[in-house]
Amino acid sequence: MVIGVLDLQGAVSEHVNMLTQCGVDTKLINELPDLDGIDGIVVPGGESTTIRKLLVREQMLAPLKQLVAEGFPVFGTCAGLVLLAQKESLNGLDGDVERNGFGRQRESFEAKIDVNGFDTPFHGVFIRAPYLKSVGNSATVLSKLEDGRIVAAKQENVLVTAFHPELTNDARFHQLFIDLIDSKQRVNA
Ligand code: GLN
Repeated sequence: MVIGVLDLQGAVSEHVNMLTQCGVDTKLINELPDLDGIDGIVVPGGESTTIRKLLVREQMLAPLKQLVAEGFPVFGTCAGLVLLAQKESLNGLDGDVERNGFGRQRESFEAKIDVNGFDTPFHGVFIRAPYLKSVGNSATVLSKLEDGRIVAAKQENVLVTAFHPELTNDARFHQLFIDLIDSKQRVNA
């Protein structure tokens, strides 16, 4: 299995390290031809407006959006979540996103969060994080804060977190993404 990590801006090497720890090969995705030969892609955190601009410049926005629409596995963290939830960007997750949703006072914070399917809480690192106000019927909420803000969700081929699992030592979300790719490949085999 080879997982691509979109390498235009943001927390790229941390995702590569995490995936390597999980025992999968990675490939940095800088330009359109790089999308060949990967089984899934991570859209990292950073600045969603910048990543979007660079996707357009590299002529990757439309092809990537098309791949996602066709069921290609994608894992978006933070800015990656924003891009996946925006219809005009990658449009992979049916949800209503609030960018920089925690405001200035709580720009960055860490919190133990409960995640459906995980036995113990996950250490959430939130950095000028977005959240989802709601998700459509085709999406499943994986984690919600006590105040109801949705911070992790899944929809068929798409996994998103508002926080940064790649900045922890906990590989459970990356493993979840690997399992998602595995199960899709088994269905298609
Ligand atoms: N606030 C950023 C955005 O909306 C996301 C921040 C992050 O990825 N850490 O693009």
